[in-house]
Amino acid sequence: MKPHIAFLPSPGMGHIIPLFQLAKRLVIQNGFHVSFLVNTTKASAAQHHFFNSAAALIPDLNIINLPPADISTVINQDMRIVTQICVMNRESIKSLKPILAELNPISLIIDIFTTDAIDACKELSIPVYSFFTASTVLLTFSLYLPTLDREVEGEFVDLPMPIEIPGCRAMRTVDILDQVKDRKNAEYDWYLFHVSRLRYVAGIFLNSWEVLDFDRVKTLKENPFYRKIPIPPVFPIGPLIKEDETLTEIDAEIFAWLDNQPCESVLFICLGSGGTLSSKQLIELAWGLEMSKQRFVFVVRKPTDASASGSYFTSGGNENDPSTYLPDGFVEKTRGIGLVVSSWAPQLAVLRHFSTGAFLSHCGWNSTLESLVHGVPIIAWPLYAEQRMNATMLVEEVKVAVKVEAEEGEEVIGRRTVERVVREVMEGEKGKGMRHRAKELGKSAAKALGIGGSSIESLNRVVDIWKSQV
Ligand code: UDP
Repeated sequence: MKPHIAFLPSPGMGHIIPLFQLAKRLVIQNGFHVSFLVNTTKASAAQHHFFNSAAALIPDLNIINLPPADISTVINQDMRIVTQICVMNRESIKSLKPILAELNPISLIIDIFTTDAIDACKELSIPVYSFFTASTVLLTFSLYLPTLDREVEGEFVDLPMPIEIPGCRAMRTVDILDQVKDRKNAEYDWYLFHVSRLRYVAGIFLNSWEVLDFDRVKTLKENPFYRKIPIPPVFPIGPLIKEDETLTEIDAEIFAWLDNQPCESVLFICLGSGGTLSSKQLIELAWGLEMSKQRFVFVVRKPTDASASGSYFTSGGNENDPSTYLPDGFVEKTRGIGLVVSSWAPQLAVLRHFSTGAFLSHCGWNSTLESLVHGVPIIAWPLYAEQRMNATMLVEEVKVAVKVEAEEGEEVIGRRTVERVVREVMEGEKGKGMRHRAKELGKSAAKALGIGGSSIESLNRVVDIWKSQV
């Protein structure tokens, strides 16, 4: 009999994609049977598209939609994004127990915000594994958070010194994730709730590999602080990223254009599934790009001054014509040099295209991995969540990125700063060095996932446990 594993991701492509990749791997490489449980409450167009295409035809990988929950009285638009996700998950997970009881998998794999499932699984004696889809930097911080919560009074952002995370580099308070910057907000309680429950799972999968996170993985395994919590075993099994994308007719136009550009000459600009700029910032970015005279593919979303994650639940939907909110004259002035794409682009295929030379990214973890796997250096434009700590790591430790930041006194990142950084990365020596290091990392990622590679060996340790249970 095939071992049967169930998955339960949170909504949002950044959660769904890596869990789905692991599911696929278990089915195709390891001969498992998988039930992939989908939270259908408030699903984005990108999510619908994903499950209608990528997921459709894999035998032994069954997509099971959880019944949409009635969230009309428990969610309002004033709630921050993580609160909305967590409330939606909690409501959807109420229907989980009978579904799991019937499926009877040998394990459930959850993500960071679906730990509510642990209770149902405990009652059903189903072991739970967590796939921590964000960076290992965030995991080390998150596992330290319950201690910080006990020991620090007031806001962490007001601490006079960087935060000393056991066995890790000290973290500047500006870099901590948004969800813990305001301890009075419900988002903080939700985040703390979920990370505090990580200790109850049987193991934590990391979407990383030994070369990228050697010191941090060693710290998680060996540092007395983490041993004392104690945390479950950690398994670096990445980088698991999308392997392919279904291309639309509009996408075909992007590739027709890219095919005609010189090798590594194009900057790809895309701020994740939810990243959205203010009107003022969008204008500065656009003119900075134009002034840099570099080729580009620019994924543009309707600006909003309300929230940097404004498109999280709407990404991939039909939007207005971008020329209505790009500055007047921009499209005409950059015709032939750049391509504007509305709302959503096939990111992976763009990153792996020969003419892509750099990626202006919000540094979400999936985007970061996709860039590194394809040897593409990064212009880091962090917006929300844990993106600032990812950006700092990529700039200061891994040295594959440069951060673009507003000058002192500037409300937004100005066009001259954009122009300077874009040129530096696309034309300068700094860009060459970053590109070289990104390519080396890309090779090490392929090795980690090849036969006998560190990530495969790591996953096989758990696969063997599962196989022994059937
Ligand atoms: N993505 C894409 N096209 C877009 C925007 C995003 O294909 O126009 C994909 C991207 O390739 C990545 C995911 O959406 O796999 C975004 O995940 P990430 O963790 O980088 O950021 P998040 O959206 O969770 O902030």
